Amino acid sequence: MNDWKTQSWFGRDVAAGTYLNAELEITESYSGRNITIPIRVLRGDAPGPTLMVTGALHGDELNGTGAIRSLISDPDWGPDRGNVIMIPVLNVLGFERHSRYLPDRRDLNRCFPGHAAGSMATRMARVIFDAVVSRCDYGIDLHTAAVRRTNYPNARADFDNPQCLRLATAFGAGVILDNRGPKGSFRREATAAGCPTIVVEGGEVWKVEPSVLECMARGIVNVLKELDMLDGEPEVPDNQVKLKTTKWVRAERGGFMDMHVSPGSTVVTGQPLATNSSLLQEDQNRLIAPFDGIVIGMTTLPAVQPGEPVIHLGRLSSPKTARRVRRQSQADEIQRTTQQHLSTNIQVTPPG
Ligand SMILES: [Zn+2]
Repeated sequence: MNDWKTQSWFGRDVAAGTYLNAELEITESYSGRNITIPIRVLRGDAPGPTLMVTGALHGDELNGTGAIRSLISDPDWGPDRGNVIMIPVLNVLGFERHSRYLPDRRDLNRCFPGHAAGSMATRMARVIFDAVVSRCDYGIDLHTAAVRRTNYPNARADFDNPQCLRLATAFGAGVILDNRGPKGSFRREATAAGCPTIVVEGGEVWKVEPSVLECMARGIVNVLKELDMLDGEPEVPDNQVKLKTTKWVRAERGGFMDMHVSPGSTVVTGQPLATNSSLLQEDQNRLIAPFDGIVIGMTTLPAVQPGEPVIHLGRLSSPKTARRVRRQSQADEIQRTTQQHLSTNIQVTPPG
């Protein structure tokens, strides 16, 4: 095994205290060329854990890519202790087509840990698992909402795994969800393989949203501090809440939605969330909060059919908690600006 002074990463020697821009061969193109994933390996002067940070595992989810690129744009940025493996775009084939999926329409995030003799997707997953995950101690996997939706930044972790909960708490997104991820997902399989990994969701596809980028970049630095890879304490907002239960409030009728809340809004039971009316403003029905909660996701497409998801609500323990979370989120600059920025994309009106 490598000693700390020099380690081999992706076929190259990397000295402690330096970085390497590497390429990991992942598959071959239809024209027979190598397809590679660009990776930055950042090595601290002193020993410590190895953390992987991945973006665009869904090839259209670019906020994480923006956060990783903003951190590595400073050539002096990196850990004092340990290694950070930064992968701005994990799913390069999806990314090249501005798509969530691989060209064969498979979801790479359901193909881990992969299989060396399987489908294209599972072979790629296996390469990533063997070359990256097997050498990392912790992971952060950055996502956004799916197409036509947005997410208020939230970290997702298996609360039964103390290390996952530790990473999610230190990240400091403001909201933490107990969720270990579906079978075959990167975070679940990496965690099962001994590399505790969390997901962080924020914003929309096809964009780099400034406040979501800030939240993710702060979170990555926070995790480095928590793992003693950098000096200092993580900057975690006071109002951070841990959610066990979430629910999509769905449209009952077809029509056009007037929203009464935006991402990050806190609500109490019975509060109007959105009013559905015909195109000529005839009321169809109103969606109300089924419990005290916080809006962690919502549709950005106001035209809905019955059964379509409108508001993703995380359950808070009481109206008092909802009020406290609202008050304290305004005290954290990143959360306050994130709420402002994300709400500018959505027409929010008071219930009539
Ligand atoms: Zn995703």
